[in-house]
Amino acid sequence: MIDLNNLPKGHFINEAINEDLKQGKNNHKVHTRFPPEPNGYLHIGHAKSICLNFGTAKEYGGLCNLRFDDTNPAKEEEEFILAIQDNVRWLGFDWDDRLFFASDYFEQLYEYACQLIKKGLAYVCDLTQEQMRQMRGTPTEAGQLSPYASRTVEENLRLFAEMRDGKFADGEKVLRARIDMASSNFNMRDPVLYRIQRNEHPRTGNKWCIYPMYDYAHPLSDAIEGITHSICTLEFENHRPLYEWVLNNLDVPCKSRQIEFARLNITYTVMSKRKLRRLVEEGFVAGWDDPRMPTLAGMRRRGYTAPAIRNFCEKIGVAKANSTVEIEMLEYCIREDLNKIAPRKMAVLDPLKVTLINYPAGQTEMLNAENNPEQPEDGSRKLPFSREIYIERTDFMEEPVKGFHRLTVGGEVRLKHAYIIKCEEVIKNADGEVSELLCSCDMSSRSGMEGANRKIKGTIHWVEANSALPAEVRLYDRLFTKENPDEQEEGKDFTDYLNPDSLKVLTDSLVEASCALCTGQSSCQFLRHGYFVTDTDSKANKLIFNRIVSLKDSWGKKQG
Ligand code: ATP
Ligand code: MG
Repeated sequence: MIDLNNLPKGHFINEAINEDLKQGKNNHKVHTRFPPEPNGYLHIGHAKSICLNFGTAKEYGGLCNLRFDDTNPAKEEEEFILAIQDNVRWLGFDWDDRLFFASDYFEQLYEYACQLIKKGLAYVCDLTQEQMRQMRGTPTEAGQLSPYASRTVEENLRLFAEMRDGKFADGEKVLRARIDMASSNFNMRDPVLYRIQRNEHPRTGNKWCIYPMYDYAHPLSDAIEGITHSICTLEFENHRPLYEWVLNNLDVPCKSRQIEFARLNITYTVMSKRKLRRLVEEGFVAGWDDPRMPTLAGMRRRGYTAPAIRNFCEKIGVAKANSTVEIEMLEYCIREDLNKIAPRKMAVLDPLKVTLINYPAGQTEMLNAENNPEQPEDGSRKLPFSREIYIERTDFMEEPVKGFHRLTVGGEVRLKHAYIIKCEEVIKNADGEVSELLCSCDMSSRSGMEGANRKIKGTIHWVEANSALPAEVRLYDRLFTKENPDEQEEGKDFTDYLNPDSLKVLTDSLVEASCALCTGQSSCQFLRHGYFVTDTDSKANKLIFNRIVSLKDSWGKKQG
């Protein structure tokens, strides 16, 4: 039982629900639903809606259903139905046995439509789409009533039954609500409730050739399931009068209340399934789970964690006005999560060989390296060290620029967890490129020794040559070069703003030996490079890492 004196506070959705509870509506219950259309994969915007719907139900000790809004078989597929369930579960939410499909209600929805006809509130209309458009009127002028609006109840019932029975061609007739052609709200100017459409439905097959429109099916599905609060995005705000009209004109078990909130948009990406679908179908990305995609499948493969995404959705809050969140904030959230849990490793993405000329040949020692300075209880690991190592090519400069504090000819640098080394000689290949460095090693400077306390400006990472494992590393950048790819210049398409450098594949990288244990989807921090995760393509004999996010945080800093 909900304690009315101690209701959750927060945003306008809480306020609306609290108001209903105080008035004793719905037997003091809160029941929500997440209603995806199975016409694509879920994206991070959907995650916002999932967190809000499941989160609100939980806050009030209520329930949340998962309902597929599968009323348009032209674009809906079983693949999406399965992927969506997988995504919602992965995000950490559970619908128990409340998995529903709007298509389960087709028979009931048909019956309800007959009731509207009997009340004189719906009629079969033969106007073409084009004629209907022309007769709709303008914002300042009323529309014209359809000449078919005067059909009798009997005729309408017979024609509607014939529509269902397949007597007419696709598009030949529709069922329309009889509301108000002079309404200032276009959605109320005798909206279409049913259309004829011969598409095989993923669940009902060819049983139906008429399908209900969203604005008709949604309120009734909500009512049938006993949904008390139907949370949706802002574009449905001026559909609300129609939502209420449907429920008020039928004898339904529950009158759900529709509450709208602003869609989530994020900079440097697109968030509409239609556009994401184009990226997949036109081959701009490798699939719905391409790690550059803002889909949950893509983000998961990229190494985003469910807690980080939930935390992001919590942080951005719920708004009543559309706005765009900076992608840096999402990156901040994943860093925040991984910083606590990701073990530190060393990986050299672009290796340059270093031979330590005074280090005994054939000797290998095991050095101690902490796993995570943020979590001392995570302990340490042993790193092999020997005469031959690899460092990052960019950590050496033959002709150093001002402010370069890493390795230079004659200069010293500290190897993380190991020794201080000095570059004595540069070896080049026939093309004049640096192929190896000969360095001396200060044998008294191992981490923890007295001699390690000398002041050295730079510390670099490395891997030991014999034990290091080859790896492919995939570096991702923003998918688009434009902050808002939805806003296009004259004659351009959003795909014109795709970032040609959004994926860089490095095939010659080397990772420390302990990475062999990175099986399944395990994430780590490669020191100085960022957070990485093993890709689903990764195998024991071919390690592949995705960069989840670099270490540089511009968002957190801005917040002070
Ligand atoms: P898209 O425009 O990306 O195709 P949609 O709204 O058509 O999205 P649905 O499958 O109908 O996709 O969405 C399921 C639920 O998720 C709806 O309640 C919808 O309002 C919500 N939703 C979709 N996109 C966003 C978003 N960007 N931010 C918040 N909620 C969203
Ligand atoms: Mg939709």
